[in-house]
Amino acid sequence: MTAPAHEVYAVKFGQHPGGKRAQYFHGSAAEPLEKPTQLDYFVWLIRSPGQDPSRDIVVDAGFTAETAARRGREHWQAPSRALEGLGADCSAVPYVILSHFHYDHVGDVEAFTGAKFVVQAREMAFWTGRHAARHEFRRLVERADIERLAGYALDGRVLFVDGEHDVVPGVRVHHVGGHTAGLQIVSVATARGTVVLAADASHLYANVEDDAPFGVLTDLPAMYDTFDRMRALAAAPELIVPGHDPEVLARFDPVDGFEGRAVRIA
Ligand SMILES: [Zn+2]
Repeated sequence: MTAPAHEVYAVKFGQHPGGKRAQYFHGSAAEPLEKPTQLDYFVWLIRSPGQDPSRDIVVDAGFTAETAARRGREHWQAPSRALEGLGADCSAVPYVILSHFHYDHVGDVEAFTGAKFVVQAREMAFWTGRHAARHEFRRLVERADIERLAGYALDGRVLFVDGEHDVVPGVRVHHVGGHTAGLQIVSVATARGTVVLAADASHLYANVEDDAPFGVLTDLPAMYDTFDRMRALAAAPELIVPGHDPEVLARFDPVDGFEGRAVRIA
């Protein structure tokens, strides 16, 4: 049985123009250290065949203007607003897939009032567990975000996954190691073949294309395995979509009226 072909969009809601390569890559992959390296912030929209807004699936929830101000990030608009600009109805979205719990992926969840949040069990366990308070982990999350997600778990609004799971036919999550304990990527059946939304399994094209690990990691061998996993899953290398690369906006076609903000991946 062939899975139904979904449409996939990347939607930018902010950026961090001030970075250098040294901040973002591991070991010698960080050279040349001074090379300017911008991070864009995205959320992703998966539209069902038939374009029924009550079947739209959202991947990640970005962060709020308050968090952006505190962390010195440029915030264009709330991710949920950016998605609504493209025609999504956040209150009707049935599933929000959360790639992982870092602050730039789970901040703007409250707009999704009817959603279940698809989470790897080991990601929740990590951020409520014994290592979460250690500085190199703690600095990457917001206390309010973790508390909110733990509350959703108590409310029965978290769909816990362990490994691989079909959220709906044609939209599958896969646990991958390397960046966080419970990072997951999303493979989507589209008319172009299988698209892989990498989120932070490949922040930038250079990570997966050059086999160059990102600097924030929990397990380096697993990060290399994750690069292989994405290559195996995607129908073509160009269908691996990094989580933070400004180049995404150049490599795919802009959505009419949203040039520089949203692209259609498939
Ligand atoms: Zn990120």
